[in-house]
Parts: sequence; C-alpha cells; structure tokens
Amino acid sequence: MAYKRSSALFHEASQYIPGGVNSPVRAFKSVGGDPIYIKEAKGAYLYDEDGNELIDYINSWGPMILGHAHSKVINAIIEKAKLGTSFGTPTEIETEIARLAVSMVPNIDKIRFVNSGTEACMSAVRLARGFTGKEKIIKFAGCYHGHSDSFLIQAGSGAITFGSPNSPGVTKGTAQDTLLANYNDIENVKDIIAANTNEIACIILEPVAGNMGCIPPKEGFLQELRNVCDANNILLIFDEVMTGFRLAKGGAQELFNVAADIVCFGKVIGGGLPVGAFAARNEIMNFLAPLGPVYQAGTLSGNPLAMAAGLAMLQELNTDVDIFNRLKEKTDYLHAGLRKVLESKEIDFTINQVGSMISVHFAKEAVVDFNSAKAGDNQQFKDFFHALLAEGVYIAPSAYETWFLCDALTYEDLDKTIEACNKVL
Ligand SMILES: *Cc1c(COP(=O)(O)O)cnc(C)c1O
Repeated sequence: MAYKRSSALFHEASQYIPGGVNSPVRAFKSVGGDPIYIKEAKGAYLYDEDGNELIDYINSWGPMILGHAHSKVINAIIEKAKLGTSFGTPTEIETEIARLAVSMVPNIDKIRFVNSGTEACMSAVRLARGFTGKEKIIKFAGCYHGHSDSFLIQAGSGAITFGSPNSPGVTKGTAQDTLLANYNDIENVKDIIAANTNEIACIILEPVAGNMGCIPPKEGFLQELRNVCDANNILLIFDEVMTGFRLAKGGAQELFNVAADIVCFGKVIGGGLPVGAFAARNEIMNFLAPLGPVYQAGTLSGNPLAMAAGLAMLQELNTDVDIFNRLKEKTDYLHAGLRKVLESKEIDFTINQVGSMISVHFAKEAVVDFNSAKAGDNQQFKDFFHALLAEGVYIAPSAYETWFLCDALTYEDLDKTIEACNKVL
C-alpha cells in the first residue's frame, strides 16, 4: 500500500500543529512511520487519502460501536444542525438523553453532560472531594482517566508510549494527592488506605482496564474495592468512558454486578461527537452547582448537536436487544481465530478479552496489571502493526491499546483479519 498523500499531509500539518496531531497517540510515534490520514469511513471500514481501504479496529477509540457513519446517528446530527447548534440555554433533548441514560445504567439518579471523558473524570473527582470533605485519591498504575493534572501519574497508553508517565507541568502538590496502586491488587489498596486514614476521598478505576491493553478485573476485585470503600467512607468511581454502553447497556456495573458511587462516561455516549458525562445517586449529584457547592460548568456542555448524536446512539443500543451479545460473539470468534494462529506459530502471547474489547500482548505471562503489560515484546508489536496495516487491517498504533469491535464487522471481515494475522506472523 502507498501512503504518499498521507505522508505529505502529515508533513504539512507538522508545520502548524505540534507533532502534526491534536492527540498524541495518533502520531505513530510508538510504532514508527507517519500516521495515515482518513478521508471517510463507512461501517467497519476506513478509506484513507491514498485510496486504501482498511478494516478498522480502533473505531475512533471506541465511540463507533455501531460502525462509522451510521445512518440514524448521522441523520439525527443533520436534522438538529439545521435548527442551530448551540444556544447557551437549556434544551429539551438534554432531558431526553439524560432520562434514557439514567434508565439504562444501574445505581444512578442524575447525570451531568460535559464535553469529554477528561472533563467527566476531573469533575467526578472534584465532586467526590467536595462530598466527602477529603482530598486524596487512589488511582491505579496504567489506568487512564484523561489528561487532567491529578491523573497524569502512570497514566497508561499515550503517557506510557511517550515515556513521560509523570508529565512536566503537573505540580508536586497535585501529584502528592494522587496515590498509586497496582491494578488487581486488593492488598496493595488496603495498605494504602491504612497508611492514609480518613484522607482518601475516592478510588477511581477503569472497571475493565483498556489503556494498558485490555485487562479484566480479577474475580472479586471490584466487589472487594466496593467493600473497602464502604468500610472507609470512600467513594468508588468507575471510569466507564471506555466500557460504558459497550460491555452492556449498564456497562461494567451491570456486567460485574458491582455498584459504583460515581460513574464517568465518554466515547460511545456521544455517538462520535465530543461528549462526556458523570452520574451518581441524588445524594451525591445534588452537591453540584447550582444545587450544591461543588462548581462545574461548560459553555457547550449538552449542546443540541452532541446530544442528538448521543441520543440516537443510546436509543439504538437500548432497542437492539441482541447487540451486546452479537458484539461479544464476534469478538469471541476473532479471539479463537487469533489464538489458533498464534499457537501455530509458537510465539509467546496473551490475549485478553472482555465483550467487544480485546488485546493481543506478545508476553508469555498473564497480563494482569501495568507491570505485566509492560513486559510485552514491543518490537514484535511494531512489526505486527505495520505488517497488518499493509494487509488492510488497522489496529491501534500502540501495544498499550485495546482493539474495539463494532457491530458493522462481518464474519467475512473477521476471517480476513485472522488470515492477515496468519500471513504476517
Ligand atoms: C478515553 C478515555 C478517557 C478520556 O476521554 P477523552 O474524551 O479523551 O478526554 C478517560 N478515561 C478512559 C477510561 C478513557 O478510555
């Protein structure tokens, strides 16, 4: 495949945009080479500026769970745009999507819409601090919660692949309020709590980690977190920006039957437009301005265009009763095919999967936390990435990213993918 036009566009962009991109992981720095410029997308396929056709396993990093340019979502955006895109006043559609989201997700009474997953997590932590009157937070190494200061402490994917887990610009004061725990290690969490009695406002985590590859919670881990939170008056925040409306209607809370105190959303909830949200029971949400003292605001938050896209997406997910099952079955099929190929090649590998999230690690030992994720063979991943790309299969350009499957993928696409893996490995 030729990427002449993509490379030319990237070099042009690099003159005006830092690193040529508006979000670092797009730059291909961790796999080498120039990024690919996409011109359009439909269903499970991307079409780039050089006329190449690619099967897409990134799906805009998660939002496109129905496939690209889904007609219901696109029509909702077009019709809404004709009426004006933002008024800075309340609109009825905000209530419609809020009512639907609250009906789909367990343990929440109210939801506040923002513009990104970063904003959702940042605001959720502020709310937890305001509500509990405590300041410290626990996060897990390798979990990503957006790029706000408190979270840029061993933050997974972009931050790992760029070798700057502790970004300059984050103050020592901020960093010291973020306590770092090992994913899937409840004893470590208990030790940290014991060493910081009555100081911890919340524990925030990805209930299925997706930013160090896909890492499922160990059996019982989420419930044990729930228990230690209850015993210590700590709020449990599930960052479901990736898992929300993807693993089940009610996200990881539903799948694992564990209740969080605050839940963060992004990605799927916006149907491909910039949307985030956070939600909790009344007692907590009523602490937010204008009802309560914790401040949070946004000029474009809940704008009609974004809400129309999100509402069309959630309506589709709410009415298509089989969708999450279908997605899981397709991913199971891909998983089995990849496993067979990798076993036949005698390559060290681990495949992790939960529902429609899957990742291949070139590592011998089970990948259960940040350290075991880092043990993967990065050179092997780079070669695998570029070889797959040449076969028309587009996976995320980093060994620390999850593959996301969309409903538009056919079994023929999956067979092509498995065959491409067989060829390149
Ligand atoms: C993507 C992501 C975020 C950040 O969302 P943005 O919309 O990129 O700001 C936060 N948490 C998780 C788990 C994510 O995957």
